[in-house]
Amino acid sequence: MDERAVNGVAVTVTVDRERCVGSATCTVVAAGLFALDEHDRSAPQVAVVTDVELATQAAQLCPTGAIHLRPVGSGG
Ligand code: SF4
Repeated sequence: MDERAVNGVAVTVTVDRERCVGSATCTVVAAGLFALDEHDRSAPQVAVVTDVELATQAAQLCPTGAIHLRPVGSGG
């Protein structure tokens, strides 16, 4: 499954800190969902996101594919 394009009513969002390069793209595209921490790595600001379209957009624009989405209730 492509974790950058998920269909559903809500998703959990995680950021792979090893892959994040601190470009801040996600913090601009989805300001309420992501913020850079003190190490210039993105951190999700909410546990569950209902604006799936916005989260998907941020994930697809991340230059390193560090943002992963998982449908809530997917069981995995
Ligand atoms: S867009 Fe990707 S690389 Fe850039 S800060 Fe967000 S998670 Fe990190």
